[in-house]
Amino acid sequence: MSYDLIVIGSGPGGYTGAIRAAQLGLKTAVVEKDKSLGGTCLNVGCIPSKALLDSSEHYHFAKEEMSVHGVKTSSVSLDLKTMMGRKSKIVKELTGGIQYLFKKNKIDRFEGVGSFLSPNKVQVKNGSDTQVIEGKNIMIATGSVPNSLPNIPLDGKRIISSTEALSLDKLPKKLLIVGGGYIGLEMASVWSRLGTEVIVLEYADRLCPMMDQELSKNLFKVLQKQKIKFLLESAVQKVNVTKSGAELFYKDKNDKTLSLKGDYVLLAVGRQPYVQNLGLKKAGIQTDKQGFIPVDKHWRTKTHSHIFAIGDVIGGTMLAHKAEEEGVAVAEVIAGQAGHVNYETVPSVIYTWPEVASVGKTEEELKTKGVKYKSGKFPFTANGRAKALGSTEGFVKVLADNNTDQILGVHILGPRASDMIAEAVVAMEFGASSEDLARSFHAHPTLSEVMREAALNVDKRARQI
Ligand code: FAD
Ligand code: NAD
Repeated sequence: MSYDLIVIGSGPGGYTGAIRAAQLGLKTAVVEKDKSLGGTCLNVGCIPSKALLDSSEHYHFAKEEMSVHGVKTSSVSLDLKTMMGRKSKIVKELTGGIQYLFKKNKIDRFEGVGSFLSPNKVQVKNGSDTQVIEGKNIMIATGSVPNSLPNIPLDGKRIISSTEALSLDKLPKKLLIVGGGYIGLEMASVWSRLGTEVIVLEYADRLCPMMDQELSKNLFKVLQKQKIKFLLESAVQKVNVTKSGAELFYKDKNDKTLSLKGDYVLLAVGRQPYVQNLGLKKAGIQTDKQGFIPVDKHWRTKTHSHIFAIGDVIGGTMLAHKAEEEGVAVAEVIAGQAGHVNYETVPSVIYTWPEVASVGKTEEELKTKGVKYKSGKFPFTANGRAKALGSTEGFVKVLADNNTDQILGVHILGPRASDMIAEAVVAMEFGASSEDLARSFHAHPTLSEVMREAALNVDKRARQI
């Protein structure tokens, strides 16, 4: 069989790219090795983690905060099995939805491991069955898998990755998390809300080292108040697996070796590109030192202009929406359109409570680049809707160019920051100034008014709400 486009991998990059290609009239096939479509994001990433974050937040709210609203319950207890079942149901519905979209868009789905036989031929191997399909164009969207540490291999039992941490069937007493980044903080939130003692060990001197420092410092304080323990500047050395758990050895900032015992050690120290069994050599494609597939500005591989790569497997920000935009752009490039991704406006969100959301440059980046900027900040404490919600921690910070007033970055720690950041993304996409944000209507009372007040405060003219 022959196609205009073969996509290898059905994660957010692959399935979105395939749908866009089909919309543009390209005969499209998707090869996916797993039974379930949707890749890391839908099966063991974004979706199950957000389902558990929401469920655990409800549990915590019912237990600790509901009575403040005058709502009393006699007792609140955890039914982890139901919580996990709900998560799995959401995953099933969404992954099933992709199957439906493939049918609707007349995309052929091949189940099996895809590997290059030549630059245009892909073999699909599913057990003892093999098929060969041919593509005028091929999009590699094979994603990423969790990192382990050199002397600490993941065993999936006591030394676990996010995949297992999203499916524990019993509440752990104590969870040791290595890495204070996205996964570390989201999983720490889930399990500590449910009643597990959580300790996060981070190598750097702050959480999420790439985040705007003011945001990172405030997030640290907020999460500490939630009883998550942090050991910063800690270098994890080794883990001994015991009968009932694991003992982790680390060096603290004074170079002293210490140890901790826990039910599990969760490694959340980043992810690596996945190109195993892809037969890249047969297509003449080489990876870089870290295993990523190098591409040009139109996502074409160096050796073949008809073989593209997108998403986690090419590196950069490893986020679902970044992979999606690249998938769409490649489909459009193949169809003769421009195909464009604005990497300056990729938002990032960490779904702790309060949430953290950022887009554009951090203050540190602007300082390093010598860009002169103005900063406007406004707290949620002064916002009516945040008070009504009972969630007033955090602030919005708008960074704008000193001369032109163009928005260069927006950083939020606060309730529903994940939804609020969209306004900043659109503003930046249109090259808006802080004055544009400040003069735009924001319905009252909403959390989004904090964005407006922060924009007003770029010129120090916020009003109290
Ligand atoms: P993937 O989603 O990894 O998909 C790759 C697919 O390719 C897989 O289905 C794989 O089976 C398939 N494949 C690989 N090799 C082959 C082969 N040879 N043949 C056939 N099929 C193959 N991002 C966000 O933006 N927001 C979030 O909230 C978020 N939360 C996350 C939470 C967790 C716990 C994790 C682990 C990640 C999270 N991410 C989140 C990151 C997000 O999941 C990834 O950035 C995204 O899935 C990358 O998409 P992709 O299409 O590049 O690859
Ligand atoms: P990460 O890069 O976000 O964080 C890894 C953390 O581990 C860093 O803070 C790093 O300093 C620390 N670290 C590295 N080696 C260490 C060591 N030996 N000891 C102690 N700390 C160490 O990676 P992650 O949390 O594993 O997540 C992987 C990727 O998945 C993220 O980069 C992100 O792209 C994606 N993700 C996104 C979301 C979201 O969008 N909400 C959620 C989860 C995952």
